[in-house]
Order: sequence, then C-alpha cells, then structure tokens
Amino acid sequence: MKSIPKSGHYIANKLGYVTLLSLVDVMGKNGVNALLNLANLRSWTNSYPSDTLEKHVDFADYSAINGALDDMYGPRGARGLALRSGRATFEIVLKGMGVFHSVGDFAFKILPAQAKLKIGLGMVARFLSQISDQKITIVEKPDHFIYTIEKCSVCWGRHTEGPTCNIAVGMLQASLKWISGGSEFNVVETECVAVGDKVCAFTIDKNPLEPKP
Ligand SMILES: [Zn+2]
Repeated sequence: MKSIPKSGHYIANKLGYVTLLSLVDVMGKNGVNALLNLANLRSWTNSYPSDTLEKHVDFADYSAINGALDDMYGPRGARGLALRSGRATFEIVLKGMGVFHSVGDFAFKILPAQAKLKIGLGMVARFLSQISDQKITIVEKPDHFIYTIEKCSVCWGRHTEGPTCNIAVGMLQASLKWISGGSEFNVVETECVAVGDKVCAFTIDKNPLEPKP
C-alpha cells in the first residue's frame, strides 16, 4: 500500500501494542510481520510499540495497519479482524486500565439502562481522548447516541469505498456490552473521513438488539 505521510498526531503506544497482540493471536507472528511489511512498518517487526500510555504511535502508522488488513484480507475479512482488535482494546486498555471501575458500584447498577449507556460512553470518550490526540464527543438523540471522532487515527490519510473504522466499532460494541451487563447493541459508522466526510461518526441504538435472557 502507499505509505501515509506522518500526521504529527499520536495515540498511546498501548493502543498499537494491543492491536498487534490481538492480530498475532489470529495471524501468528509471521502473518503480522507480513502485515507490517505491507504497512511500510518494517521497523516495527522486532519492536512493537510498548505496553505504556506514552503517546508515540503516529495516526498514520495505526491507520496503515488497518489499511494493510484491508489489502491482505479484503474489506470483509479485515472487518472481522478489526472488530476482534476492537474487543481486545476494550478488554485490555479500557477495562484493563479500570476505566469502567464505577460500573460495578451499586449506585451505577441501579441507574436506568439508558443512563448507564450515556455515562459509560462518556467514560470511553474521555479516556480515549486523554490517551490520544483524537477528540471524541457523545451527542444524545431521542433513540440513539452519536459517537464522533474528530481527527480519527484509524483511517488517517486513507481513502476507502465505505466506512472503515471497524476497530472503533468493535471497541464500542464490547464496551456497551460490559456497561449494560451483557446486551448487544447496533453500532454503525455513518460518517467516515476515509470516504470524504469531515469526521468519523458512529450511531449507537439505545435499545439493545435482543432482550437479555
Ligand atoms: Zn475514521
């Protein structure tokens, strides 16, 4: 793929680290090396980003990994892998770093379901805005939330046929499941910078896809 000029905007090393780790799980180390070659990140093959919150991973490099997945597996296959990396981002970065620590509190548990979602999404947006140069906001509508990323690291400098920030979709789905105590929610990327929109925006239905058993 064409190399993406460096952006001068950064995300926490840990986000890059977790993404590669989740891909190693599926593709093996050699597969990830091939992916890094394709992403013009040969220097990463022997030194993955560190497992720290320092912001040293350029948006262009994180985007290149996502673009290389597309090139290697096609948009459909890449989507599955990116959703998986998004779930790992939730598990290791968000949940692992204690972002949702108050979700277990009694005061949180007795909140109405939609209030839980709103507060939980706020936690995600605040934390990811802190550990990256992305600016993430949540807007509430009557039946859905809109999660908006200004300056998105997932698709930075790329052009795609359709919305491509699937890693964010996977992270959101897994976070919502945790926040709600086990429900699945419909998360759709409705605007994407890679297709020419100004921001990347995700619509999140307030009602779960199916009632909890
Ligand atoms: Zn994006």
